[in-house]
Amino acid sequence: MTKKTETTVVADQNYSAQTDDPLLIHRRAIAIDMHADTTQRLLDEQLDISRRLPDGHFDNVRARDGGLDAQFFSIWVEPELFGAGGAGAMKRADEQIAVVRGLPDRYPETWELATTSEDIRRIAAAGKLAALMGLEGGYAIDERLENVERYYQMGVRYMSPAWSVSTSWAGSSNDKVGQTRGLNDFGKSVIREMNRLGMMVDVSHVSDQTFWDIINTSAKPIIATHSGCRAIADVPRNLDDEMIRAIAKGGGVVCVLFYPAFLEPGWDNKKKKVDAEIASLVQKASEEELRSIAYKKIARDRVRREQYADRLPRASVSRLVDHIDHIVKLVGVEYVGVGSDFDGVQSTLTDLATVEDLPNLTRELLRRGYTESDVQKILGGNVLRLMKEVQK
Ligand SMILES: [Zn+2]
Repeated sequence: MTKKTETTVVADQNYSAQTDDPLLIHRRAIAIDMHADTTQRLLDEQLDISRRLPDGHFDNVRARDGGLDAQFFSIWVEPELFGAGGAGAMKRADEQIAVVRGLPDRYPETWELATTSEDIRRIAAAGKLAALMGLEGGYAIDERLENVERYYQMGVRYMSPAWSVSTSWAGSSNDKVGQTRGLNDFGKSVIREMNRLGMMVDVSHVSDQTFWDIINTSAKPIIATHSGCRAIADVPRNLDDEMIRAIAKGGGVVCVLFYPAFLEPGWDNKKKKVDAEIASLVQKASEEELRSIAYKKIARDRVRREQYADRLPRASVSRLVDHIDHIVKLVGVEYVGVGSDFDGVQSTLTDLATVEDLPNLTRELLRRGYTESDVQKILGGNVLRLMKEVQK
């Protein structure tokens, strides 16, 4: 080897040592989180997210530090509190949409509204955060097809037909009726309407029958915005291998959530035991809170968070990447993404506890041999491709 070549090699190594820095790789990627419930905090607690908050999982400062580029805010209508359908559910959805749509006015230096993949690329290039919306559970369409377009016009770009309580037209993975309920004719017309408008169909939370009815109805690729793999954590809320194959076959994306209950084997059962043990404690906190029902829920969740931290095993980002690995080995790196469920869960991963820790996901992916191109796909590239396809 000539001296000149050696010099060149050394220079190249220096160059690659800089560009291979995990944090730089992370920052170069467009990072899109498909699901966070910060919306309800913004509305119910009237949070100012311009400063670093002492609690919760998300604010502008931590989102910036975590290298996030786009956030899908969940428009979540809790069925028991706000009615599974009807005027109450629509009002609750509209209020949350107004809060998200108001972000650019409140924080013009940080947020811009986005509805397309081009919007996300443009906003990220300008160094801002893109705010998008997804409707979690179809309660707010109130069993009327025209409401799908109403929410689309308001900026909503995905919808899951049901959350933990089945709708009349779609089964949930979480209740008894969902064990046998799929999509009825109206449900199928909702999926076709979403296809027509260019709204992504989200299969997170739906029953197995609903999942397969969606696969057989949707003419466009679909998404799971925040789910894990049953092959690792066998809970109804997760996807089995056949489902993951079906999503990939249609060109869709499975976004893995960051919640230990659906990542760590056995965690969800342990949590159920703890839930039974702390039921009276949770009830007491709810009764002692005299403000609105929203604050009562916050009080209950606070007790759960504290008790889970004390009583349940910790899980790390490594377990999350086990799920990503599983999907990649099954169908390839083109069909996986992320959806944190931040501010919607009462326990997070030790080293991915808030949005600020997002670079730890990239570090773990690189440690396992994923390339920068793979990381870009997983963090947001695959979702951008899907959005463009569904927009057509
Ligand atoms: Zn959810």
